[in-house]
Amino acid sequence: MKISSAKFIKSSTNLKQCPAALMPEFGFIGRSNVGKSSLINMLTGRTKLAKISAEPGKTKTIKHFLINEKFYLVDLPGYGYAKVPRTMRENWQKGTMEYIAKRESLVCLFVLLDIRIKPQKTDLEFMEYLGINQVAFARVFTKCDSLGSDSVRDAIAKYDLEMLKKWDSVPVTFLTSSKKGQGKDEILSYIAENLNKFSNEA
Ligand code: GDP
Repeated sequence: MKISSAKFIKSSTNLKQCPAALMPEFGFIGRSNVGKSSLINMLTGRTKLAKISAEPGKTKTIKHFLINEKFYLVDLPGYGYAKVPRTMRENWQKGTMEYIAKRESLVCLFVLLDIRIKPQKTDLEFMEYLGINQVAFARVFTKCDSLGSDSVRDAIAKYDLEMLKKWDSVPVTFLTSSKKGQGKDEILSYIAENLNKFSNEA
């Protein structure tokens, strides 16, 4: 799939504020600094798309980008390391969790994981939450250029072992590097193959 247009549509703090659910959408989430903005920019081929819309003060919002006038990529607030008052954090977590659990047009949530960091409780618990709530998701390992191919394989094998303690199988998995463009074709093909999982005419 080629991306011919990518437009920032709006920032929302909760489900009600999001654009009408008329097109399929694909969300991106992960801990702060995982490489989410870089990945969205790499996938869309727009070097500043994800950061352009970032509000001053790093307010955490749900950001919708319209791609090819056909589907949305959704940049979701990063979790962890939030240097903001607890009440604010709880509010946006509530907004994001509500979006994830209830957004009918959300086809797949890409959960970003830094390949250099061993399995973290926050990520594992978050994926368990997705499983319990039957939210379709895929794992996206980021920054794969920062390790050799053997170490990448080891890191994923360790991650799989950790997940298989709770899961019967491991989710769909992508290896990416925004620096090298790795994983772009695979993720865009996956999106193209899954576009028809939501149709507002259904
Ligand atoms: P976000 O906070 O999740 O949006 O993360 P950013 O996209 O801003 O990236 C966080 C840091 O990770 C930055 O210093 C990036 O340069 C670095 N980074 C992002 N993607 C990659 C990658 O593919 N490879 C490497 N080596 N570093 C990356």
